[in-house]
Amino acid sequence: MTKYLILDCYVDEPACFGVPPFISPYPRYIYGALICAGVDPENITYKTIDDIRPLYVIQDSSDTVFLIGGAVVPGKYLGYKIGRIEEIIKIAETNKKKKFIVGGLAGRLAKEKCGSNILSLSGDIEFYAYTLAKGCPEDGLRSNESISRWAFEGVSAVRSHFEFPHIIAEIETYRGCPRKNHCSFCSESIFKDIEFRPVDDILKEIDALISQGVSRFRIGRQADILAYGSELSEYRKGFPKPGSDPLFELFTELKKRKEEGKIQTLNIDNANPGTIANFPDESSLAIDYIVKALTPGDTMPMGIESFDPEVKARNNLKVSSEEAFFAAKIINDIGGVRVNGVPVLLPGINLIHGLSGESAETFRINYEELFRMKDAGILIKRINIRSLLPFPGTKAERENILSNKKINNRYEFYRDKIRNDIDHYMLSKIYPVGTTLEKIRVVETMFDYSLARPLQSYAITVKLPTPLKKGTFIDAIVVAHRERSLIALPNPIQINFLPAKALEFLPGVGKRAAGDIVLKRPLRHHDSIRQIAPEINPSIIDKIIY
Ligand code: SF4
Repeated sequence: MTKYLILDCYVDEPACFGVPPFISPYPRYIYGALICAGVDPENITYKTIDDIRPLYVIQDSSDTVFLIGGAVVPGKYLGYKIGRIEEIIKIAETNKKKKFIVGGLAGRLAKEKCGSNILSLSGDIEFYAYTLAKGCPEDGLRSNESISRWAFEGVSAVRSHFEFPHIIAEIETYRGCPRKNHCSFCSESIFKDIEFRPVDDILKEIDALISQGVSRFRIGRQADILAYGSELSEYRKGFPKPGSDPLFELFTELKKRKEEGKIQTLNIDNANPGTIANFPDESSLAIDYIVKALTPGDTMPMGIESFDPEVKARNNLKVSSEEAFFAAKIINDIGGVRVNGVPVLLPGINLIHGLSGESAETFRINYEELFRMKDAGILIKRINIRSLLPFPGTKAERENILSNKKINNRYEFYRDKIRNDIDHYMLSKIYPVGTTLEKIRVVETMFDYSLARPLQSYAITVKLPTPLKKGTFIDAIVVAHRERSLIALPNPIQINFLPAKALEFLPGVGKRAAGDIVLKRPLRHHDSIRQIAPEINPSIIDKIIY
C-alpha cells in the first residue's frame, strides 16, 4: 500500500498565503483529493518543513511526497521561515528513496538542480495527487466540482499542523483575473476561465474546518474580493461590476458565524482599486457587507503598483493616482469605523519597483501621492514596496527590465522616506497611545524583550520590553510607535513590577522618572506617579494597577 506525505514548505503567492500561522488550501486539497481517490487516511501524513528542520530527514514510511511551496527570494516573516529552494533540494537529496512531486517554479528549479527523485508539475498538484492515487497519473488542472469535494474532505489535515489550533485557514473563492486587460507582470491571467466557487461550497468547507477546531479564516485566494460572484456581463474600462448576490450571501453567512462565536478572526485579501473607482456605489455596498462580517484590524490590499502615469500606461496598471486616492478614501470612509479601539478595515497599498517605464522620478511621484493621502487624513494600514520578480511567461519577463544604479539608489532613498515620513505617522493614527491590543500572541522572546502579533492578516509587530512566554496570548497597551511596529506593555500595566527599561517607554515618563519610580516602589496611587512624572500621558494612567 502506497503511503503519502504532504510536506508543506509554505507558499507566499500574490493571491495565496500559507506561511504560518496561515495554512494555504494546497495541503488541504491534496489531503482531500487522496481521500476522494480512495486512500485510507492512515496512509496520508501532513507535515511542515518546520517538522523536519534542521536535518531535513523525513522519518516515516512514505514513498511519495507531495511538496508544496518554496521561495526563490524569501520574504521576512516574524517567527517563521518559508522553505527556500536550497532547502527543497536538500530535502530531496537527503531522502533519496522517496519520490518528490513538486509544483510551480519551485518544482522546475529543484528538478534542474537535483533531478532523479523529483517530478516537476506544471498543472495542479492536487489534481495529480488524485489521478496518481487512482492509478492514472496526469499533470492537469482541477475543476471547481473536484475542489468542492476535496476541500471538504481535506479539512482534517489542519489537525497535524504544528501550530494547530492557532492557525488561519486561507480560503479560496476563485482563480484568474476578472479584469479584461491584464497587468504586465502578473501570473493570474494564466487561468483563462474564471470560475467562482459556489457560496455553498465555501461555507461547507469553512463549517467543516470549524468542526475541526479552526476559528480563524482569511477569504484570501482571489484577485479581487469585490468581483467575487460577478456575472461578468457589465464592464467599465475593463472592470466587471462588483457586489453580486453571492458576495452578499457569503459575507452575511460569515457574519452569522462570527456572531455565534464560531469565527474569532475573519480577514480578506486583495481588492482591485479599479473596481472601486469604476463602480463606486456597488463597491461601497459590497465593502459595507464585508466590513460588517470582518473582525477589527483587517487590511484591504490594493495593487496600485505605481502612481507614475508613464509606468501605469506601459504596464496596463489598474488606476491613475486620482482613482487610487478615491478608492483608498472609500475604504477609509466605510471600514475606518473602530471596534474595540481598532479600525475594522483600512486599505493597504502595494507598490512594485522594476516595472517598464520606471525612472528616477517614479519614486518621487509615489512618495508625493502617498503624502497627499496622509495630508487628506486617509489612513493606510500597510504600504508594501517590493522589487519585481517577473513571473515566467509574462510581458515583464520578456522585456527583461534592467534597473540602473541611479534608479536603485532613488528607490532605496524614497522607500526609506516612506517608512520614516508616512508609515510611522499612519501607525500613530491607527493605533494611538493607549490602544488595547487584544489577544496578541508572543512569537519570539529574548533576554529582555518579546515580539508578539495579533493572529490575523498583515498583522502588526508588537515589541514588549519584557520577556514573556513564547506561544502565550496577552492583551497589551500601545505606548510608542516605530516605523513598522508598535511598542506595548502587557495590560494592565503593573507599575510596581515592570523593569525600569519597560517603564521608560511609558509616554511622558522617560529614563529619569522610570528610575525614580523604581526607587519609590511600591507606589499606591495615580497621584504618586503624577508627582514623579507630571507629563505622563492621561490615556495611559487609567491602565496602571498597583
Ligand atoms: S488586475 Fe492585474 S494584478 Fe490584479 S489579478 Fe488582474 S492582471 Fe493580476
